[in-house]
Amino acid sequence: MTENPQCAKCTKVVCDSEASLKGPENCPTKTKQDIIQKALNEYDDPQVREFARQASIQEAECYMNLPEGLTTRYPRVEEIAQFAKKMGYKKLGIASCLGLKDEAEMLTEILENRGFEVVSVCCKVGGTPKEKIGIAPEQKIREPDDFEAMCNPIAQAEILNDAGTDLNIVAGLCVGHDSLFFKYSKAPVTVLVAKDRVFGHNPVMGLYLAHSPYYRKLLRKE
Ligand code: SF4
Repeated sequence: MTENPQCAKCTKVVCDSEASLKGPENCPTKTKQDIIQKALNEYDDPQVREFARQASIQEAECYMNLPEGLTTRYPRVEEIAQFAKKMGYKKLGIASCLGLKDEAEMLTEILENRGFEVVSVCCKVGGTPKEKIGIAPEQKIREPDDFEAMCNPIAQAEILNDAGTDLNIVAGLCVGHDSLFFKYSKAPVTVLVAKDRVFGHNPVMGLYLAHSPYYRKLLRKE
C-alpha cells in the first residue's frame, strides 16, 4: 500500500508536462499506473470518448490567445450552453433550489433562447414534511411547529429522468442534497451554481479569505 496521493500539497506539479513521471514519491502518476490505465480504457467507449473530447474542445474554446497572453472568454453559463450544443443535446434539465427561483427562471430563459427545451424541478417538489426523514422539531430552520418541506433531490432526479433530459444542470442545491441528485440522475450532471449562503453562491471565497482576520476561523483545528 503506497502513501495516499496528496496532489493538493505537491510542490513539483509535473503532470502537465512531458516530465510527468518526475513527481514526488507519492505521485499518483507514478504509483497508480494500473488505475490510470484502467481509467484510460474507459475512453475506448465511443460515447465516453466523444463526451470527453467535446468537453476538452469546450475547455480550450474558453480561452483566447491574445498578444498579451492567454485570456478567458466565456462565463460558465455560456460554457454549459455551448457544450450542450456540441453534444447535440436538445432537452436540458434544471435541478434548482427554491431559494434560487429567480436564477432558475433566468437560466431557463437563457437556455430557451438558445433553442433548448428546458425542464426544471425545484428542491421542494412533493411538499413532503421533513418529519418523513426523521427531522425533529428543533432541527427545523424556522419554528419547531412550522411546516417545512424536505428537499427531495431524489424526486428531482427521477422527474428529470422521466422527462428524458440529455443533461442536467444543478442550480444551488444544498450540500448533500446535491450528492443525492448526482447519485440518482441518469443524465450526466453539471453544476452552474454551488450554494453558498454567505458568499453569494461563490464558495471559493471561503478559501480565498481563510487567511484573512475575518474568516481565519475556517482554518481552526478540530
Ligand atoms: S499528479 Fe503528481 S505531479 Fe501532478 S500534482 Fe499530483 S503529485 Fe504532483
